[in-house]
Amino acid sequence: GEPSPVAAPAVSAAAVATAGRTREELRALAESAAVELAEASAEEALAWTEQTFGDSWIVASNMQDAVLIDLAVKVRPDVDVLFLETGYHFAETIGTRDAVATVYPRVRIVNALPDQTVAEQDAAEGPRLHERDPDRCCFLRKVVPLRRTLAGYAAWVTGVRRVDAPTRANTPIVQWDERNGLVKVNPIAAWSDERFNDYIHTHGVLENPLVAAGYPSIGCAPCTAKPLPGADARSGRWAGRGKTECGLHG
Ligand code: SF4
Repeated sequence: GEPSPVAAPAVSAAAVATAGRTREELRALAESAAVELAEASAEEALAWTEQTFGDSWIVASNMQDAVLIDLAVKVRPDVDVLFLETGYHFAETIGTRDAVATVYPRVRIVNALPDQTVAEQDAAEGPRLHERDPDRCCFLRKVVPLRRTLAGYAAWVTGVRRVDAPTRANTPIVQWDERNGLVKVNPIAAWSDERFNDYIHTHGVLENPLVAAGYPSIGCAPCTAKPLPGADARSGRWAGRGKTECGLHG
């Protein structure tokens, strides 16, 4: 069935979190920044984010690596980091999250939890919903917790890159996120794989050990496979299930 809508956050909390800006003001900000920062470097995009939003922005990470976190702590050492704790992660991914907390002790990791544990979801929806209806499973375990967490912020920062997949080829540096009602910043959207790997090696940035084991795009364990030779990095996600995105970046 149709997923049910998520309750809106309390108005007072949202107003405080967005530094007093209304949704329309945030939208206008995003639209002008999209033009002004169209060619901005990652450092410029993050500096703008910090100057504009202060403590009301959060960095999303799937704990595949800490590149975005490493860039973000340069402008805000105690930046908030959002991790969607779906209950289905590889042990290596949880280990990477915990290593991030050690390497960057000032960051605040926000574990966004679904309403139900995996066991509760199995009881309510039947087991292995991710096999039968991955869109619904992602809705319950990623989309809803993401929306609920983002309701407390004016902007979120993602590691989406244009080269990740054809669906991401037009990713802008700054955009308005209509569904979640806040500004979305993609500082490394224009980075090539070479640039990205260079940054990891030059700065000794943490990387999930599964990357070296042949997984270039890491999500929940039941929905992540190694891509076939020559296929794009995200092709191992929900392989064979006709799904390419979790609905977070659509
Ligand atoms: Fe469920 Fe798979 Fe989506 Fe994770 S990636 S929330 S297990 S469908």
